[in-house]
Amino acid sequence: MVTALADDIWWYDLTGVNATLVDDDGALTLVDTGLPWHGNELIAGLSNAGYELRDLDRILLTHFDLDHVGGLTAFDGIDVPIYVGKRDAPLVTGERSPPLGNHKGAFQRLVSPFVDAPDNDVVPLADGDTVGSFTTYHTPGHTPGHVCYVSESLSLGLLGDLVREDSGRFEPSPWLLSYDTDAVTRSISEFAERAPDFDIAVPGHGVPFEKNGSERLARLAATL
Ligand SMILES: [Zn+2]
Repeated sequence: MVTALADDIWWYDLTGVNATLVDDDGALTLVDTGLPWHGNELIAGLSNAGYELRDLDRILLTHFDLDHVGGLTAFDGIDVPIYVGKRDAPLVTGERSPPLGNHKGAFQRLVSPFVDAPDNDVVPLADGDTVGSFTTYHTPGHTPGHVCYVSESLSLGLLGDLVREDSGRFEPSPWLLSYDTDAVTRSISEFAERAPDFDIAVPGHGVPFEKNGSERLARLAATL
């Protein structure tokens, strides 16, 4: 099931991890894809929201991690491009393996047998690139190629694992799950400075906010 956050925005609560469906001015956009076993739930969510699989136009990924790219296999053979931050793109395509020298990279390497490289076109995104109404913000730290997406027209920020929601507040992505926590802190501050205001904020984990999303993020940035 999906929960509507606004007329054109739906939240997938995939038990522990979030994905988002957006009707971006007619371009149906799925953001992140959960774990490998979430494929059916992702497709069921499309019909909950009133769409069919063939209506899907594109997939955006916030970063390469098993719990955000795992469900991609459900879209194999379907002609939709996958957009991802350029430093994580070679991990999605399987051209590169995660680095063993980093604790998070070593973990990614350990679970990589559960991730299949998709057949779809993979489009690397740089900071400032736009896809539909979304602008890409490179926010490294959790992973080197982590990005957030902001749509001003939808008043929506898709935050991936830059932050997580816990007890009604944003928290930085924790050390254990991040490549570099100093970079996470820097990315939160820079993103809070650079991004336009948005109300709806969907983190990769925890409950989305429907109001004052960018303000809540600025509040966190002020404490770091
Ligand atoms: Zn995650």
